Order: sequence, then C-alpha cells, then structure tokens
Amino acid sequence: MTNRITGFHTADVRFPTSRHRDGSDALNPFPDYSAAYLEIETSEGDHGYGFAFTVGRGNDVQLAAIEALRPMVVGRDVYELVSDLGAVSVSLVGDSQLRWLGPAKGAIHMAASAVLNSLWDLKARRAGLPLWRLLAELPAAELVGAIDFRYLRDALTPAEALDILERGKEGKEERVGDLLATGFPAYTTTPGWLGYDDEKLARLSLEAKNDGFGMIKLKVGLDLDEDRRRLGIARAAVGDLPIGIDANQAWGVAEAIDWVNGLREYEPYWIEEPTSPDDILGHAAVRRAVSPIRVATGEHVHNAVMFKQLLQAQAVDVVQIDACRVGGVNENLAILLMAKKFGVAVCPHAGGVGLCELVQHLSMFDYVAVSGTTDGRMVEYVDHLHEHFVDPVVIRDGRYVAPTTPGMSAQLRPEAVLEYLYPSGPAWVSPPAARSGSDALIGG
Ligand SMILES: [Mg+2]
Repeated sequence: MTNRITGFHTADVRFPTSRHRDGSDALNPFPDYSAAYLEIETSEGDHGYGFAFTVGRGNDVQLAAIEALRPMVVGRDVYELVSDLGAVSVSLVGDSQLRWLGPAKGAIHMAASAVLNSLWDLKARRAGLPLWRLLAELPAAELVGAIDFRYLRDALTPAEALDILERGKEGKEERVGDLLATGFPAYTTTPGWLGYDDEKLARLSLEAKNDGFGMIKLKVGLDLDEDRRRLGIARAAVGDLPIGIDANQAWGVAEAIDWVNGLREYEPYWIEEPTSPDDILGHAAVRRAVSPIRVATGEHVHNAVMFKQLLQAQAVDVVQIDACRVGGVNENLAILLMAKKFGVAVCPHAGGVGLCELVQHLSMFDYVAVSGTTDGRMVEYVDHLHEHFVDPVVIRDGRYVAPTTPGMSAQLRPEAVLEYLYPSGPAWVSPPAARSGSDALIGG
C-alpha cells in the first residue's frame, strides 16, 4: 500500500517569556515566544515536524495560514513529496489564490516554510540522518532542483549553483570530521536584552566570555546615552571580545548612521537591523557611512529575492538567514549559495523558540558543503526554552555540537505542547492573570 500523508496536526504553543522580559528589544518590549506548530504523519507511522516562530499575538493567524496549506499535503504520496521538494515548494509558494496574500512574504510564506521544513524533517528522519548531513550527502543536482531560480538567475544561475556545490565536495569529509569533533562557532545574545539591569548585563557578559562564545550581542536603539552606558559596562566585562549591536529596525536611515557613529568608540563588530528590513538602499547607505562596522540583517527579510538585492547592492557584510521566515530549507539553500557567490558570511538569526535547533543544520551544511569555512561565521545562541525540545541544541565551549539524531531537531516534547497550549494549557490558565499582565505592559 502506498505511504501517504495522513495527519496534519497544528497547535498554538506560546511560552510566557514576557513575564521576565526575556527577548526584550527596542521594538519588542514584551514578547511571548511562540510556535505555530505542525506535525505531519504518514500512513506508515513516520512523522515530520515544523513550525513558524512568532512573538505571541498573531500565532493563531499564523496557524490559520498553515491550515490553508493542508489540502496540498494531506493524501499525497510520501515518496513523491520528499523526492522532489522543489516541486512541493513551487506548489506551496505559487498557489494561484494563496499567493495573493504574499507573494512569498508574511504569514502565508512562513506557513509554506513550516510545511516545507516539516517535509525536510520527515525526509531526514526517513534517511536516518540529521538534516545537515542529509543535505551534505544529497546529489548536487537534487539540491539545485530544490531551488526556484525564476527570480534569482540574474544573480545566480543553476549552473553556478551546481559548480559551487561540486567544488564544495573537495575536503568535505575532513570538514565533517572537524564538525563532529569540535562543533560550529556560536555567539550569544543572552546578556544583552534591553530589560536586564546593569548587574545582570555585566555578569552575563563575563559568563559568555568565560564560556567560550565568539561574540556577545546587545540590544540598542531606545536611548543613545543608555546604549553608551550599557556598551561601556559590557566592554569592561569582556575586554576585546567582539560585541555586536542590534537595533531591531528602530531607526530611519540618517538616524541609524548618527546613532551607530555615536557608539563607534565601543567598537561594535556589527550593527544588526539598523532600519526597515525592506530598505535595501538604506542598508547600503548605512553600510557606507558606518564602515568598518559591519552591517547585518536578515531575520525579517521576506525571501531570497530580497537577499539577492541586498547582495547585489553591497548593502550587507553579514547575511542572517532565519530557518522559519523564508520558504523553508529550499529558499535558504538559495540564500547560502548566493552568499557564497558574493563572498558574504552567513551568521544565522536564532533568537526565539526553536530557531537555534533548526538553523544550526543550515550553517553546518554551509560549512561542510558550500562556504567551506567557519571564518567570520557564527550561529546566534540564546539559552531559552531548549528544554522543551526532544533533540535540543547542545553548546560546548561556546560552540554548537553537531546533532547526530535524524531530522531537523524541530520536535517539541509532547508534554510541552500540552503545558503551553494557548489559551487552554496549564501555563496560561494558571496563574489566570498572567496574560492580561503582559498585555497591559505592551502598550507602555
Ligand atoms: Mg536581531
């Protein structure tokens, strides 16, 4: 009997992180880290997991978008699906009615990402390999076939992509061995949330340095004098360790330039999301004006077409892919290959819930089979909520330990799904005042 997709189960999972201001930044003072969670099931009993990350309200909207894709997956032959995920990507992203909601941006695109990632997770589980290893072992032609080049080929052709992947085979086994032995570099944002007091900032900064992280990152953008003071505290704590700063889109272009130059004496390694993620020429202007401070962006960049333009306009020094915002593994493959062609480092975004778990696979694949280097490469790390995952990330000596469990590490523990189910799970029902408390503060 044919193995078919028989189950498509969604869940609204929200963690009340706003109660302690974990994750607070210039534009998100009280986020509740959430997953619009998807579990697919096959008639043979295999599973695949995916999710879209949100910061609370709207997680239900995100789930509705995922539900809209259900008919394109349920009932389909599993082998047909996972052997041509490029075709699946085109059908999900290009649906003639649903693409009106994008195209290729916002909730409907993040929904496609959740579905595609769940299918990549299923494919890797069926192969008995962690996703990074599966990607590294797939034929180059299959990886190229997973990418829709329609809007990208003026920057990267399929032939060029194939060539990059073929060249990436040289020395691949040594890099796999190196990755398994020593892991992948990480930096941490844990010390730098805006809501933390000075003592906590200094203590966590020093801990990060002692733990071996390659960089710490501080949120900035509410008050320049405060930013100078906090950067001074962090700089005193970590010495010459790189410090990234992240404005989370707080500024207009001119303001970004003035503000970053006002922090120059603390030698920030990069400025992240200085302005609107849609403003490609604005990023280019900021980059020219704040050099040699690097410009980084990507966590809110909708799709590979936007990344293409950021690269073509020489608007960024660091590409920050996100595992859940663009169209799943497929579109991130395209972005990794374009970054390689343009010679720009990829340092993924991984705040939030589960983003570290997912995106580590993409950076490890990038190192092993595309860029071939870890120079200037780091994956963000935040030490929140990993305990809720079946295969949580492991950090050792400030580096991500390469996962060996089959899949994309996307599965939440079933108990966590029940505990944090919104709004009926115990975490939200008790204490009953918790949610209204965070709502009241958001407007402040
Ligand atoms: Mg950021």
